[in-house]
Amino acid sequence: MTRKLIAGNWKMNGGLAANESLVKAMLEGLASPACGIALCAPAPYLAQLQALLKGSPIDWGSQDVSAHEQGAYTGEVSAAMLRDFGCRYAIVGHSERRQYHGETDELVAAKAQRALALGVTPIVCVGETLQQREAGETEQVVKRQLAAVIHTVGHCISEIVVAYEPVWAIGTGKTATPEQAQQVHAVLRAQLAAATTNPKRVHILYGGSMNAANAASLLAQPDIDGGLIGGASLKAPDFLQIIAACA
Ligand code: PEP
Repeated sequence: MTRKLIAGNWKMNGGLAANESLVKAMLEGLASPACGIALCAPAPYLAQLQALLKGSPIDWGSQDVSAHEQGAYTGEVSAAMLRDFGCRYAIVGHSERRQYHGETDELVAAKAQRALALGVTPIVCVGETLQQREAGETEQVVKRQLAAVIHTVGHCISEIVVAYEPVWAIGTGKTATPEQAQQVHAVLRAQLAAATTNPKRVHILYGGSMNAANAASLLAQPDIDGGLIGGASLKAPDFLQIIAACA
């Protein structure tokens, strides 16, 4: 793995004016980043990101994508629509979508496949709940979630990005320790190694209350190839410090 990847997930936050000042502050503070960077915004603001980020080192992505190609799926956004105006990434299987929208492993895998078919890189989120961790099921859960994607996309698995996001760490301020995160990342890497000859090509991001203070120690782990950042991606100084921690 050469360059790390830092991706922001704005979730359902933002507005035209706020997005513009946030992105401008990020671009002003960005020297020469040592990592890839992406911002994933709510669908109505993707065109705004496209315009604001044109010619910059920051890519942009969506927070979801439809598993369907086109047609009578009211409210959904297709991978072709995203690709139409240059979307690079699509988050799929975020725990908030699994939890609040009933997304199954199979649906997440179908979304990843649809994105890949259109040249949009899926950021596939996996992660265990606190209850599952306490029951000793972490490895089993993340492997099951990733296995569904491997099964569906086959040899294209080396084209995805994986984000390990323990559900208990998302938006809670409770971060996995670098050792806890590394342990799971190593499991995921081994699973990828059984499915592709180039497992190191796949970025495995850590997500879950990553911030300016804890980023460096997490990013120093051998199998942590970057971060998926929620809350801290809404504050330019914090996001810039996480980017700087990749140097
Ligand atoms: C996320 O939403 O993917 C996330 C990691 O959120 P936070 O950084 O706020 O925990």
